[in-house]
Amino acid sequence: MKPNKNEDEYIWVQELQQRMARLEKEQQAESAAEKLRLKEAHWMHCPKCGQKLSPEKCGAVEIDVCPSCKGVWLDQGELGTIVESGGQGSFFQNCLQMLRGRQPSAKPRVG
Ligand SMILES: [Zn+2]
Repeated sequence: MKPNKNEDEYIWVQELQQRMARLEKEQQAESAAEKLRLKEAHWMHCPKCGQKLSPEKCGAVEIDVCPSCKGVWLDQGELGTIVESGGQGSFFQNCLQMLRGRQPSAKPRVG
């Protein structure tokens, strides 16, 4: 019997929230000097291939594009801007709600 899609989504959200909480705790334990060192070493570089990212205007947001591997990076809030222009109840809307610490909505919200 195939698992229920809502159960799978609920478990996925729970696991992701637990992982994010654990990683956040680990990062809080790093010293300010280590955080600064990491920022200086990696600022505006692709986390996949290490090449310099290029900021590019894309509609209402400025995305950071890697010219080498074609990866795309979004700053905090930019995913929300993109998703909210797509409507409630979509996969991306549910992902955004999960990232903000809420359960995905079961049915569309009006307004
Ligand atoms: Zn890259």
